[in-house]
Order: sequence, then structure tokens, then C-alpha cells
Amino acid sequence: MLKHDNQLISKDAQYVWHSMKPYNPESTMIAEKSNGSWIVDHNGRRFLDAMAGLWCVNAGYGREELAQAAYEQLKKLAYIPLVQTHEPAIKLAEKINEWLDDEYVIFFSNSGSEANEAAFKIARQYHYHNGSPAKYKVVSRYRSYHGNSFGALAATGQAQRKYQYEPLSPGFLHVAPPDTYRDEEPIQRAEEIDQIMTWELSETIGAVIMEPIITGGGVIMPPRDYMKRVQEICKKHDALFIVDEVICGFGRMGEKFGHQLYGVKPDIVTMAKGITSAYLPLSATAVRKDIYESFKGSGEYDFFRHVNTFGGNPAACAVALKNIEIFEREQLVERSKEKGKYLINSLLTLEEHKNVGNVRGEGLLVGIELVEDKKSKKPLNEKDVNQIIQECKNRNIIISKNGTTVAGYNNILTLSPPLNIAEEDLNYLIHQLSEVIWTVLPKS
Ligand code: PMP
Repeated sequence: MLKHDNQLISKDAQYVWHSMKPYNPESTMIAEKSNGSWIVDHNGRRFLDAMAGLWCVNAGYGREELAQAAYEQLKKLAYIPLVQTHEPAIKLAEKINEWLDDEYVIFFSNSGSEANEAAFKIARQYHYHNGSPAKYKVVSRYRSYHGNSFGALAATGQAQRKYQYEPLSPGFLHVAPPDTYRDEEPIQRAEEIDQIMTWELSETIGAVIMEPIITGGGVIMPPRDYMKRVQEICKKHDALFIVDEVICGFGRMGEKFGHQLYGVKPDIVTMAKGITSAYLPLSATAVRKDIYESFKGSGEYDFFRHVNTFGGNPAACAVALKNIEIFEREQLVERSKEKGKYLINSLLTLEEHKNVGNVRGEGLLVGIELVEDKKSKKPLNEKDVNQIIQECKNRNIIISKNGTTVAGYNNILTLSPPLNIAEEDLNYLIHQLSEVIWTVLPKS
């Protein structure tokens, strides 16, 4: 068996180009199977996946119902482009509307990046239709991540992800994010959006894009009234308010969608990951009905000229529908809220450690910011942060770190487990992680 595994690993090294870091056979896991919150590797070793993959397996692993939904749909109708239509897409679009609690029309794609690209193109074209073609610029925040494609990466506010791929799409502007841990007056960061729109000329600003909580940039929490203020500013400057719910949506923050916690009504909502709990690729761009109406003219350039071969694949839509059915039946959104409170409350005692600056989150989206000392809040060195992650792995737990490598702000441990994580697994995570932090980092 070992020989076979070694062969697989060397073939992997030979043929597979992995995301991110250079190939390291020591740390590469050949994942073989999974169930609940656990992944089993090729050696039979089990890992508690406290990140739900890339913050995406919201309903947990091993859901036979989801496999069955895909199988049944593939047998019945494997493919039809969404130039035509099919029942799972129609029902799913209706269901997303119900979850958004307002009137939206849904454009389907396959990934979060694509959902955001579609949103940017829709925003630009909408302003054309309204006689303001100069409104093409998009405002986003530093530290955000919005995807890997040229527009979505341009919107992204982490320089290390853009370096060597620039120039990207022009017309993307950035402001500082609100950070309730580091910033004395985080609500002022909303006013910076007003300012940049004024200085750049309202007449050139088409949209703002933001996540409710910046996730990949380090679980950066805004003040409660920040999003509301941003929405007012968007209205003032006639800019569309796009909310990226790729991670925050589908229960991650203890709400159906993260923005609902802050009482705003976005013009466009993008979503992916949790929509199918990652069982199949699917994403959606939900567009307010009256914006969609402006695309219904009969002219040559009135419609959305944006073909997506696989977007809204019937099996992916069928899986998403079943996934949402599971969410409702098992009350996964409510459970995320409850378990999140328990998780965060339990981890808050870690703030007694001199290197734990801040434990924060909403629902099962949690960040633990590590610092050299609480007064300076200087980010903890990466070596120690990595050692905590490694020691967790030694204890069969997968956690992650997020932030930005720029200026060393890659110092936030992140947790984002499946929303149905079992109580004993949650307690195991809390206990082990606390012990690791107190063991790896000197106490004084
Ligand atoms: N937006 C956000 C907030 C994300 O976190 C991600 C991916 N992690 C994306 C967009 C891009 O999604 P994808 O990788 O599916 O293209």
C-alpha cells in the first residue's frame, strides 16, 4: 500500500499544479474520503476539518442526499445551456429570492470569481442603460479578496496576490476597511468611501463591492452600523451596492446571508461555496429586479451579453436545492449562530494569553488575532503562527491563518467548520486549540 502511495505522491509532484505554495510532499495530503467534519487521508489518518475546506462545506461531508440529487439529475437531464432553461435552475432562483427576502433575478455561474465578474459587468452596463456610461469605477477595500480573475483580482485589496499579474483591470479603487480591533473610529472608514467617490467624481463611480465581514483578509469585523452607512453613501452617489456573500452567505455568519445581520438591502448579491456546500461548482449573481428590468429593451446592446457554458448546470442546481432543503430541515443557519456563540465564548478565555490580541467572529466564522504584545498590537511573527497551525495538524485538526502577507498581517488564525459540526468535535477543537496556543507560545 505504501509503495502505491509513494507512486501517487511522486505522480502528483510530476503532473499536478497546486494552488498557492510550492509542492511539499511532507505536507501534501492525499484525501481519500470524508464524513461529517472529518477527512480521512490515504494512510487512514483522520483530520477534523475546522475550515470546511476553503470555508465552503457548510452542510458537512458525506451527505448521500446530495450525491443522490446529482445522480438523479444527471440521469434525467445532464446539460442544457441557460439560454434555455430547466426546472432546478427555476426552483433554485425562486428559493434564493426567498432567502434574500426581496425581489432579485439570478444569473448563474460556476465560481465566486465569475459571480463577481458578472456583477461588475452588470453594474457597468446598467449605468450605460441609464445614460451614464462614465460610471465605470468600482470601490472596494484593502485586505479584501474577491477572486482570481482580472476584474475580481483588481477589486481584491491584497497586494501580494496581485504582484506579477498586474496591470489588472483598470477602474478599481480601494479604501481602508473598518477594523473594530485596530481602529479607534472604524465607522470613519465608511466616510472614506464618500470621500473617494467625491474626489474621483460621482459621475465616474459605478459600484461598491464588499463582504459583510472581510474573511480571507483576516475576519475583520465592521461596526454594526458600517454597512448601513455605506448603503446611504452608495445611494447618494448613485452607485450600486454589491455584497460579496461567497463565504459569508449560506449560514456562515449565523444568518442566511451575512448582510442581513446589518439590515441592508444590496443591489447585487454574489454567492458561491456554501450554495452547494461545495459538492458541485455553482455560483450566483442576484440582481435587484428593477436593475434587471433595464436589460429588457429590444436593442442590439440592451441585453446581458455574457455566456457561461457551465453556469447553472442542472446537477449543480439540483444539489443546491437539496442542500438548502437540508439547511432548512436541520436549521443549520440557527445552529451556526448558536454554535458560533459557544465557540467564540469558549475561545475568549484565550485573550488572557499575552499573544492573543482578539478573538472575534459571527456564527461559525471566527478569527483569533495573534500579536507580539497587546499594547503595540504588532502582528505575531509568521513562524509562531505557522507552528500553531502545524501543532494543530499534529493533533489531527485543520485550521488556517489569514490576513495579508503585506506588512506581516498574516497573523489571524481562522476557524470555519461545517455548520453541523458535532458538539464533541467542537469541544475537541476548543480544547486542543487552547492547549496548543498555551503550549507553543511562551506564557511570559
Ligand atoms: N469572494 C470571496 C469573498 C472569496 O473568499 C472567494 C474565494 N475564496 C471568491 C470571491 C472567489 O471564489 P472562487 O475561488 O470560487 O472563484
